[in-house]
Amino acid sequence: MKKFILLTFDLEEFDLPQEYNIAIDKKTQMAVSTSGLLNLLAILKQHNLTATFFTTAHYAENNPSIIQKLVADGHEIASHLYYHSVYNTEHLLQSKQKLEAISQQKVSGIRIPRLKQFEYRLIKEAGYLYDSSLNPTYLPGRYNYFTKPRTLFTDEASSLLILPLSVSHKFRFPLFWLSFKNLYLPFYITLCKRILKKDDCLHLYFHPWEFTELNNFNLPWYIQRRSGQKMTNRLNDFISTMKKEASFIKVTDYLCKKSSKTLFQLRKDTEAKLPEEIKTTNKIDVELQLS
Ligand SMILES: [Zn+2]
Repeated sequence: MKKFILLTFDLEEFDLPQEYNIAIDKKTQMAVSTSGLLNLLAILKQHNLTATFFTTAHYAENNPSIIQKLVADGHEIASHLYYHSVYNTEHLLQSKQKLEAISQQKVSGIRIPRLKQFEYRLIKEAGYLYDSSLNPTYLPGRYNYFTKPRTLFTDEASSLLILPLSVSHKFRFPLFWLSFKNLYLPFYITLCKRILKKDDCLHLYFHPWEFTELNNFNLPWYIQRRSGQKMTNRLNDFISTMKKEASFIKVTDYLCKKSSKTLFQLRKDTEAKLPEEIKTTNKIDVELQLS
């Protein structure tokens, strides 16, 4: 069985300090994300990898040239809703349209900020092919999805594809960004290899702002530790080891491999079931894709 690693990044305004009642202005929020992104892109380039960036439309409209650079470098843009801290159903479609206009690339997937859950039907109706917001584990005080599937599945009622984030098999230990930066790296890598022994895919997520030095923000130690250069070195070591185990690919490339369909066919299947007004928008995008 061929094995794949999906490196995904939530590219957003850095509003995390606000969760801890620390004020941070919009300009700094954008700057922290962008400076980390530039460090991250250098590693990806060094390893000749492309990745999927779940981006808020708010970040994209403030940094259009960066989005265009990502696309030109072969990366993929997906949605991370419109704003990082506003959970409005209308933003499902609006963020998609805004990101498509800026990137000139079709947006197929979404990850809701802070892994909040929206009704799958609504995500499907906004024209998305897949959702990537499910961390199938139990996080006290946040969510409990311990009994949900661990790997790619189709939500039957909406026919939306759901691509869960990777957790270990038995205990469902999450391999998300906090584990990556806090665990002893060889142990984290062992967990990843164990997942790849059973599954064909390892699906991880991080944030570009983790690649910026965060010591000045007074954040909890488990968030600000190993940021900036340490995080850059850590990801570099991780990729160097794991590229012997699996191929790093973008999310839509993985979905195409799983379904044996082209992205164009997958999107056409999605579009066929959409309300009329969204179909029209998508038609333009499909033409964009083909030209
Ligand atoms: Zn986020």
